[in-house]
Amino acid sequence: MSYPDDAPLSAEWFARASTVVPGGVNSPVRAFRAVGGTPRFMVRGEGPYLYDADGRQYVDLVCSWGPLLLGHAHPDVVAALTAAAAKGTSFGTPSLGEVELAEEIVARVEPVEQVRLVNSGTEATMSAIRLARGVTGRSKIVKFAGNYHGHVDALLAAAGSGVVTFGLPDTPGVTGASAADTIVLPYNDGDALKAAFAEHGEAIAAVITEAVPANMGVVPPKDGFDLLLRDLCTANGALLISDEVMTGFRISRSGWFGASEGRVVPDLFTFGKVMGGGLPAAAFGGKADVMAALAPAGPVYQAGTLSGNPLACAAGLATLRAATPEVYATVDASAAQVARLASEALTEAGVPHRVQAAGNLFSVFFGAREVVDFDGARRQDTAAYAAFFHAMLAEGVYLPPSAYEAWFLSAAHDDEALGRIAAALPVAARAAASTRRET
Ligand code: PLP
Repeated sequence: MSYPDDAPLSAEWFARASTVVPGGVNSPVRAFRAVGGTPRFMVRGEGPYLYDADGRQYVDLVCSWGPLLLGHAHPDVVAALTAAAAKGTSFGTPSLGEVELAEEIVARVEPVEQVRLVNSGTEATMSAIRLARGVTGRSKIVKFAGNYHGHVDALLAAAGSGVVTFGLPDTPGVTGASAADTIVLPYNDGDALKAAFAEHGEAIAAVITEAVPANMGVVPPKDGFDLLLRDLCTANGALLISDEVMTGFRISRSGWFGASEGRVVPDLFTFGKVMGGGLPAAAFGGKADVMAALAPAGPVYQAGTLSGNPLACAAGLATLRAATPEVYATVDASAAQVARLASEALTEAGVPHRVQAAGNLFSVFFGAREVVDFDGARRQDTAAYAAFFHAMLAEGVYLPPSAYEAWFLSAAHDDEALGRIAAALPVAARAAASTRRET
């Protein structure tokens, strides 16, 4: 389906971009290919709002795909960044902010004794896997279908997020050799996990899982699944890597680890998004004895010219310090309200749907059945979502341009912003109803 192009300046910028940047964007899901139409080129963000090149204001429900827990241009973050920038943008030496950011992370997530800072979630998961392989001397990695861990070659098998948006089960450019040591299992399937360990137990270096999968929509672990993961890893000498890039410091002050009942303690964590406050910062961490295998303390090489960058550390630190219990309570309440309003509007319009949530992280599946794995997520009515998305956009609400993503709130989403969302949802639900197919 095509949508009217009513954003002339964004269209102009998109045309310019498309001549010099592949597909016109620097990360595929931004391109609107899953929903059609012209991606909006944003020029400013303030609190809960984004402003596009055509001068339109949108209530932002993407929040830069998670990092902006405090909203856009939070005064503390801007002040910290301005002060840091005035002192120099990169030193290429150890610096104070990286120690403080590492201390803040270690203080929040109890099992983490040491972290190494990197620049993106992709680097964090890539490095955590290298570390797990280096420590165990084993080669195989288990990942779950629909879990996205960034664009690491070995982890781009059956990934979620942009990979599923584009229907690419694998991607050209990832060689058989780099994917050969990746075992992909259905999420939430304990029997498949047991079978994989029975067959490959001695070769498995690590299992990597999103703490709560949120890149195929939000699919929480079934009761007992995380425990089984922990038990099987321990029994077989494999490391358990919990990818908290999305959930870390967003679902709670200590991420999913802090929010989940009967919490399971992973060996390694990966973090990103919120901890960078909108700048490129990410990390991986765990017990000091495992982390000690990293160079220069140990033999596993890992490095980065801009790792621990002073601006990124300043933005991350300011964000984490401002993320008080009140901030989490506000985001929790706003997320619950938007999820409820979306569900009510879709019910009223007769659109089958499921809202699935883990704390303040939620998504809306455009289908009737509970989703427990990637196959279930793919049964959605993506055309209905596209119609819903465009109606929201026309009403001034910016949703993720893909049915497979979580919706993100921030502490800056106030009554006015929430009111705008509430007013838009019934219009969008009726638009979805008009294109609906059976799922
Ligand atoms: N892991 C998870 C769970 C993610 O959601 C993402 C990105 O969305 C990544 C890793 C990769 O992070 P980045 O995009 O910063 O490389």
